[in-house]
Amino acid sequence: MSKKRFIAGATCPECKESDTLRWWKEHHVEVIECVKCGHVDRRSPLSEEKDEHRPEEQDAQVIGIFKPQ
Ligand SMILES: [Zn+2]
Repeated sequence: MSKKRFIAGATCPECKESDTLRWWKEHHVEVIECVKCGHVDRRSPLSEEKDEHRPEEQDAQVIGIFKPQ
């Protein structure tokens, strides 16, 4: 599984709590989740970045469903 990291100082757009947001990468998409209210936000990368050497990317590719073309 990918590592989930808390975003220091971030405020949830839903419940307005601070320091409740954490993010991780899922198949090259950043996922942000609020642990307080369960709000989830996904953002696709605008441009494909060559950062596939990072450990969390390798974890995502083991699943192998959404491989980039
Ligand atoms: Zn929230």
